Amino acid sequence: MTKVLVTGGSGFIAAHIVEQLLAQGHSVVTTVRTEAKANKIYEAHPELGKDRLQIELTPDLTKADAFDKVVQVPGIEVVLHTASPFHFRVTDPVKDLIDPAVLGTTSILKAIQKSAPQVRRVVVTSSFAAIVDDNTVNNPNHVYTEKSWCPITLEDVGTNPNKGYRASKKLAEKAAWDYVRENKPNFDLVTVNPPMVFGPIVHHLDDVSGINTSNERFVNAVTGVWKKAGEVPNQGPILIWVDVRDVAKAHVLAGLEKPEVGGHRLFCTAGFYTNNKIHEILRKNFPEYSEQLSGLKPSEELKEHFQIDNSETQKLLGIDWIPLEKSVVDLVNSLKPLLK
Ligand code: NDP
Repeated sequence: MTKVLVTGGSGFIAAHIVEQLLAQGHSVVTTVRTEAKANKIYEAHPELGKDRLQIELTPDLTKADAFDKVVQVPGIEVVLHTASPFHFRVTDPVKDLIDPAVLGTTSILKAIQKSAPQVRRVVVTSSFAAIVDDNTVNNPNHVYTEKSWCPITLEDVGTNPNKGYRASKKLAEKAAWDYVRENKPNFDLVTVNPPMVFGPIVHHLDDVSGINTSNERFVNAVTGVWKKAGEVPNQGPILIWVDVRDVAKAHVLAGLEKPEVGGHRLFCTAGFYTNNKIHEILRKNFPEYSEQLSGLKPSEELKEHFQIDNSETQKLLGIDWIPLEKSVVDLVNSLKPLLK
């Protein structure tokens, strides 16, 4: 069994990674920002001793020594770095999004190289945001693959939170690959690059106002926010998705079970979706929300759009992607205790 450090254990994706690792008998060291978040995770696993689940506080990702202490927990062999801001409630995209993403990534890589030479693999949660290019999203002849890179630079960001998020993921991922190339540490690197991640929540929320960004649309649909607007919202350029359980599985496979994926970007996606399709799935499966979901004008769909080819990832991981209907149904069922 392996001891794995997972950063940001309070997050939507990380919580699934932690659950999958624990279910497979591995030991998990995870980081959160507050004592309260640590206690919620411990409370969910009263049966586990500190040898199986240990939680450390890392309140500020931008501190150069943010991870110096936690990487020194004895016996960590694999690091899965997921912690990074994913929301658009920012006033300063550089300070609020880009700095924590980039500095958090470089500080953990430095800390591992300095104090945890036994670590053999680091997996960084990147994003389709580091792949997609505004100039080609409407081009039906353009194919995004594991080799595609978002061209955004710091200068393009301005005060736009959306561009800030995209730059945070692109620049953090680039910093990770540059670090490994320039410093030749003992570990190798893998990145996981998912687009919109949907699926059930297993992390610990007090109410739906704390829902993670990629699942917000489902809360909005069933609580009547869509109804108030009278229409299914437009979904923007990110037209592809993947289930959170598959993203977590990709991290676990990449970290622990597939040495051959070292040096690869894993473009994890189940394919295209539309908000109209999600609306149809919700109406079919949740008659109890029919009032909130009826009489909505369909969203406008992009007529022409990019193509994808993630066959390299498919070959490396062999994941049979969870279908959209299952993901949506499991998600809404997981939200029900919080919706009452
Ligand atoms: P969440 O918001 O649920 O999780 C983000 C995690 O990062 C939380 O643990 C959060 O801590 C932590 N975090 C955020 N900002 C900071 C900060 N400034 N300092 C310290 N910790 C911080 O989002 P997801 O689970 O969806 O995202 C996890 C990763 O996956 C991110 O790297 C994101 O970019 C990436 N990703 C997500 C996609 C999606 O659709 N969900 C798609 C592609 C990539 P806290 O709980 O205290 O807020």
